Amino acid sequence: MKLFLFTLIICCSCLPVTAQRNCATNEYWQTQLNSDPALRLRYNQMENAAKLHPLISKKEQGAGVAEMPVITIPVVIHILYNTPEQNISDAQVQSQLHILNKDFRKRNDDTAFIPLAFTSFATDCAIQFELAKTDPEGRATTGIVRKRTDRLSWQQDDKMKFSASGGNDAWDSRYYLNIWVCNLTKSLLGYATFPGASPEKDGVVIRTDVFGISGSNNTAYNKGRTTTHEVGHWLNLKHLWGDTDCGDDSVDDTPPQKTYNSGCPSFPQITANSCNPLSSGDMFMNFMDFSDDACLHMFTPGQKQRMHDLFTVSAPRESLLHSAALNKPRNAGASPEPQTDTSPRLSIFPNPATDIIAIEFNSQKPLTRNVYVIYNITGRSLAEGQYTGGIISVKGLTAGTYFIKVRHGEQTLTAKFIKH
Ligand code: ZN
Ligand code: CA
Repeated sequence: MKLFLFTLIICCSCLPVTAQRNCATNEYWQTQLNSDPALRLRYNQMENAAKLHPLISKKEQGAGVAEMPVITIPVVIHILYNTPEQNISDAQVQSQLHILNKDFRKRNDDTAFIPLAFTSFATDCAIQFELAKTDPEGRATTGIVRKRTDRLSWQQDDKMKFSASGGNDAWDSRYYLNIWVCNLTKSLLGYATFPGASPEKDGVVIRTDVFGISGSNNTAYNKGRTTTHEVGHWLNLKHLWGDTDCGDDSVDDTPPQKTYNSGCPSFPQITANSCNPLSSGDMFMNFMDFSDDACLHMFTPGQKQRMHDLFTVSAPRESLLHSAALNKPRNAGASPEPQTDTSPRLSIFPNPATDIIAIEFNSQKPLTRNVYVIYNITGRSLAEGQYTGGIISVKGLTAGTYFIKVRHGEQTLTAKFIKH
């Protein structure tokens, strides 16, 4: 018994503790398939149709994929925020679009790090992404929808996809790639639907702090590759190991793999008792593995083929080719998309406060005047002054509820706070 306990302790202490990319797509999708037999049928039919698709020989494949025209996918980003920091800037969104376009066009800066054994497999997928110019009603849009929510965090249960549950409804997923950026629970980086999902759920969900190239986020997921990976799923790519021990990803030119890789493996990554017969080992730098952002660099021609198959006649993503989302707005006179929440808003921290408050403002433009006034609930002005650096002392106030007002251009912004 003593020996057993000893062995147990030793074994526990040698379990790997490295953080692992947590993509919930497979778990999410299995739940969807189990709860919706019609979805399972649709998805299986699509997969079988793909198998019947005349296979191009390896020799022809190179020529075949090179001829594929570039597909442009219109994108709408739904930013759901509870705190001002979660209301990420347009620049942050642009940085993610930039990464997507580099990764799917093999224009990423880090292809030089692909081991020689795999360089000939790295391919330009001829897919690009553009923020929508026209919303579903034909009005002008930036392709970015901002919405304040009371919800503090989100799970892989699709609540962010519905206004009724504190999220934001999808734009017609036949014509837009919907990406929801929200404060997913810390254990999750993102998840996606595979093609065939119910239209109102179709799209990709990404945790706010891993969306785009983030200056404040120093984790292994700060290079925008979570979104590249999840959009890969949305375009029907599976994990390299097929989500089971030596499973199949339905792609011929990705080597079979026992399981996922994590961190930054060094070449060759060979797993004991692996199903991979190649001396070059796992293709751990493929975007559909679990390596850190800095160590993901490529898609293969087989993956490209599988993605492009979705855009053939009557295939699930063909409708995107007929989207009007990138055309000029046809409804120019109409008011802008009402859900676009760009109105200036003032936030107070901490709230309740004791000695000082910090005021924060969600607009890109700085406040035009740095003058504030504090009122009590009867509307009586109690304090006023100029604030510097957004910090105001409230030491002199008695405990109670107050309002602070600041001027921004022609507008007055008000926020409520409580003094303890
Ligand atoms: Zn995944
Ligand atoms: Ca494979």
